[in-house]
Amino acid sequence: MATRADSALGTTAPDTCPVCGLRTLERVKPFCSARCADVDLGRWLTGAYAIPVPDDEDEDDEGS
Ligand SMILES: [Zn+2]
Repeated sequence: MATRADSALGTTAPDTCPVCGLRTLERVKPFCSARCADVDLGRWLTGAYAIPVPDDEDEDDEGS
C-alpha cells in the first residue's frame, strides 16, 4: 500500500472519484473508471487548463 505517501504530502485526497463520487480504482485513480478519467480530461480540454494533449493512444473506450 502506498496510500500513506499521500498523507505524507499533506494532501488529504479522498478515495472517491472527483467526477461521480464513487470509490477510486487503483489503476485509474483518482478516478473510479477510465470513463470518468475521460470526463475529467474533457473538462481540462474545455479550457480549465491549457495542456497540449498527444495523440489518443491510451483510450480503448472511444472509437469513432
Ligand atoms: Zn467516477
